[in-house]
Amino acid sequence: MPKLILVHERGNCIGCGACAAIAPDCWRMGKDGLADLIGGKDAGGGRYSRQISESELSTNKQAATTCPVNVIHLEKDGKREI
Ligand code: SF4
Repeated sequence: MPKLILVHERGNCIGCGACAAIAPDCWRMGKDGLADLIGGKDAGGGRYSRQISESELSTNKQAATTCPVNVIHLEKDGKREI
């Protein structure tokens, strides 16, 4: 089972809402208008991350590729995929 880590560069999020619409189990819009990675841990530098399961992969890949400013990334076994 590969280790899948979702990373959000929240500091560069523009709050378009696409991730929360596509993958609402993992993303919601915060009170400040920017997206929150649900369950994400502060990784410093405005970045948040958390591990996801295989079942969460498909929608989050879609969210990452849809993000207009490319601030959602996916790491598989330590290697950046998106
Ligand atoms: S899709 Fe990207 S820019 Fe839009 S709210 Fe989500 S993280 Fe922010």
